Amino acid sequence: MLKNLPVKSIVHKGLTIEGYSRAAVQTYWRIAEMKLGFDLGAHPWDFMGTPTWFISHTHLDHVAALPVYVARRRMMKMDPPRIYVPSVAVEGIQRLLQAFSRLDRGRLPCELIPVEPGDEFELSRELVVTAVRTRHTLPSLGFIVWERRRKLRPEFHGLPGEKIRDLRLAGTEVTHEVRLPRVAYLGDSAPQWLDDNPDLYEAEVLIMEMTFVAPGHRREKIHKLGHIHLDDIVARRDRFHNELVIAAHLSTRYSGRQVQRYVNRVLPDHLDGRLKLWM
Ligand SMILES: [Zn+2]
Ligand SMILES: [Zn+2]
Repeated sequence: MLKNLPVKSIVHKGLTIEGYSRAAVQTYWRIAEMKLGFDLGAHPWDFMGTPTWFISHTHLDHVAALPVYVARRRMMKMDPPRIYVPSVAVEGIQRLLQAFSRLDRGRLPCELIPVEPGDEFELSRELVVTAVRTRHTLPSLGFIVWERRRKLRPEFHGLPGEKIRDLRLAGTEVTHEVRLPRVAYLGDSAPQWLDDNPDLYEAEVLIMEMTFVAPGHRREKIHKLGHIHLDDIVARRDRFHNELVIAAHLSTRYSGRQVQRYVNRVLPDHLDGRLKLWM
């Protein structure tokens, strides 16, 4: 396998979360089992087979490789990808693709789907994605991937199997849909996005940015830039019910050792071991 970019990975309950993210450098994530990815700041060669992507916002470190990805899929004779983008960005991306198509002398076929906060997309019978507004310096989205299951309605609990089958055959709706938030993702955002969307605290896996960690970096200023500081996580520590919290998008001004040191100082238990620093 061709290794053109750094990728870290972790497996959680049957989901392989792969990616890499540093502020102003590049951000890309994918979950192969769900056949989807988030952000195209750069594109590892072997992420090409994943056909569906969600773009959080159009800062270059989150979108620069969009034409590259589309071109690779065409070159490898794969179906055109489906890319969900903030609706304000659709026209600009179309123009960009047209320009690259002329420069590269090749078609760039893809389906661009405009997304507004609150939108919901059915990816398959099992998976639904919802979009939430995040707080950044330009229109920006977060995404929650829900797994849908059919569960027996409570009023039928305890009934024998044949009875339930008869009811179903007679046209009674014996099950109802239950949704489980499996993965939540945000690109860049000030911390209010968490408080605005409490579902994010309940997702099994939360992939979030934590751009700043040093105590000297003032929080008010960071929030104005639309980013999160380690102290924002500490202030909300009891609200995270996630099984896994991946903190990424760290500023390049910190080395890995520095990040570890700052986190160990204020969050020595790393949220009971659930917090993973992604560097
Ligand atoms: Zn960014
Ligand atoms: Zn950004």
